[in-house]
Amino acid sequence: MTDKVVKSESEWKKILTPEEYRLLREAGTEPAFSGKFWNLKDKGIFVCAGCGNELFSSDTKFDSGTGWPSFFTPVVKTSVETAPDNRFGMRRTEVVCARCGGHLGHVFDDGPAPTGLRYCINSGALHFEPSKDKKK
Ligand code: FE
Repeated sequence: MTDKVVKSESEWKKILTPEEYRLLREAGTEPAFSGKFWNLKDKGIFVCAGCGNELFSSDTKFDSGTGWPSFFTPVVKTSVETAPDNRFGMRRTEVVCARCGGHLGHVFDDGPAPTGLRYCINSGALHFEPSKDKKK
């Protein structure tokens, strides 16, 4: 596991776009079907927009129909952490970047095999690094 990234909120404000800040640092949510990755089918790795931590692979991305990029597992279990989120009268499980603590989205238990999990992630919390190997 890489070292944790700890920054003050004013430091985050300097390096993130206002939208990235709203999503990652204020646990915001982008509107469905509005983000840049929900319909992306390219091969590559999705990394944290805040710290570059490798979070999700295109190999585990699936079409959830929700309008948010959805994955059935993170790259490795330790790349994300989860916590109960009972805001807005809903019982949900928040997903954060294990390295910088940035809010990514939520995880639900209605995903496909093999995990049965659906990581529902804001496009704006991610950057995409295309695979260089075209065969992948
Ligand atoms: Fe991060």
